[in-house]
Amino acid sequence: MSNPYFIGIDVGGTKIYGGLVSPEGEILTNLKIATPPKASPSTITLLIIKTARDLAIAGRIPFRNIRAVGVAIPGIVDNDGKVVITPNIHLTGVDLKKILAKKLRIPVCVGNDVNLGVLGECWLGAGRKAKNIIGIFPGTGVGGGIVINNEFLAGTQGAAAEIGHMQIADEGPLCTCGNKGCLEAFAGRWAIEKAIHEGLAGKKRSIITTLAGKNPKQIKSGMLAKALSAKDPLVTAVMRRATSALAHACVSLNHIFNSDMFLFGGGVIEACGDFMLPAIEKALKNDPFFKRLKTPKVVRAKLGDDAVMLGAVAMAKRSLGEKIEGKYKIYPLLKYKGSDRIATEKEVLEDIFYVRADGKIKRPKNIFAGKISENDLEEVCRKSPDILIIAKGTTRPAIAPKGLKLLKKKNITLHILTSQQAVILFNHLDERKTLLSFP
Ligand SMILES: [Zn+2]
Repeated sequence: MSNPYFIGIDVGGTKIYGGLVSPEGEILTNLKIATPPKASPSTITLLIIKTARDLAIAGRIPFRNIRAVGVAIPGIVDNDGKVVITPNIHLTGVDLKKILAKKLRIPVCVGNDVNLGVLGECWLGAGRKAKNIIGIFPGTGVGGGIVINNEFLAGTQGAAAEIGHMQIADEGPLCTCGNKGCLEAFAGRWAIEKAIHEGLAGKKRSIITTLAGKNPKQIKSGMLAKALSAKDPLVTAVMRRATSALAHACVSLNHIFNSDMFLFGGGVIEACGDFMLPAIEKALKNDPFFKRLKTPKVVRAKLGDDAVMLGAVAMAKRSLGEKIEGKYKIYPLLKYKGSDRIATEKEVLEDIFYVRADGKIKRPKNIFAGKISENDLEEVCRKSPDILIIAKGTTRPAIAPKGLKLLKKKNITLHILTSQQAVILFNHLDERKTLLSFP
């Protein structure tokens, strides 16, 4: 194919993140720029155009050879690519798809960022082996996205999957949207913060005052996690309430969609997922109505900051009639060259190297001295693999106990093999995988 590349752009309130991506999902190059505060619609539109052009230049590809551009917007986007409403940036009412297509002269798609994040995970991340996915992202608010048969659910006007604003309690707390008892009014970080403030005002004692000061204005997710591990009664009670709200929502959503998977991400889950997710899983499992059916998986998102950008590319691919399902094609095919040497189709890889979960070949920043430490594994397992294969070569790599703990916490299966066996297993596995090789 003469023009195989796509561009994905994730437009956020504070930054614009773009990537030049192969049809297989490999990120060839990426760039990030700040969204100027209070930027006008024309400024943001120009920055999107500039990001797209700069990516092509950085990738040394003539712009006409880009197949399509996918753009993710933090707001409601209708099915014609017109922005209906964006609370955090000035794009409300902008006919973005039309404007961009006219300027860029290639196909353009525009969609909601959370929906696209779930689509991205469905293409290359935690949801790759699932077709029907409910994505829930408790951060400051609670974002939602629903993928059905590898396509996100947009609804008639592009406003579907606002899971955070499902009303789950009759006379519940007031939500930012104006309704009462929304999921977000229990499980969004703003709501958790509010409930903790109310507890403190009612003279309840909490470690939060030590972590965030006497009048803690903003309670970050990391502080919640610390308070949970210290078994702080106030924070534990508030987080139980948030978890229970999420569990109720998941049981109802499961009855509606009978999905394969509940996918969780967002700041609150990143920090407190170990506390929240098992309880949600249990609620789904114990659902009496669905006891004869398979319980959907409860998993964490894997693509991090790349999810939305890759989802925008997935949308662009689908708009051209291409599939996003199928085997992984982001990994190099490895060859065993004898004497513990491993090669790709292009080069023999000397010394210590690793193939990261996003398919990139990397050299460790520090040469591992004797033991593979927790920090070494943090580096090697960036981009969230499901499996780590260590090709031990002639060395005897030992992993520090803290490192083994980290792998367990991240749910990464470890295989330590000879270089030859490692190559065979790596090529064979169709999972998110990392190979760390010693000479
Ligand atoms: Zn609401």
